[in-house]
Amino acid sequence: MALMITDECINCDVCEPVCPNKAIYQGEMIFEINPSLCTECVGHFNEPQCVAICPVDCIPLNPDHLETREQLLQKYQTLTQEK
Ligand code: SF4
Ligand code: SF4
Repeated sequence: MALMITDECINCDVCEPVCPNKAIYQGEMIFEINPSLCTECVGHFNEPQCVAICPVDCIPLNPDHLETREQLLQKYQTLTQEK
């Protein structure tokens, strides 16, 4: 599953630089996550880096983007090859 940022985001900007997939960007009101780029950090780290660093704990799983660990790994491999 990709992750998502809720409207509790305080725009502190600490998550954007730690994302290994460049999936996080400044949206119109708050920071947002591009679900097609988010692998839950699978392939890069053992835990989602944005969740670990977010001071207000506003990055839950995105229920609209259900993916298994195998699918996330596949996504990671596709993204890595594109680089
Ligand atoms: S879980 Fe990882 S890949 Fe997904 S947005 Fe957060 S830091 Fe980026
Ligand atoms: S770390 Fe959390 S509060 Fe800060 S910009 Fe990212 S989602 Fe928003």
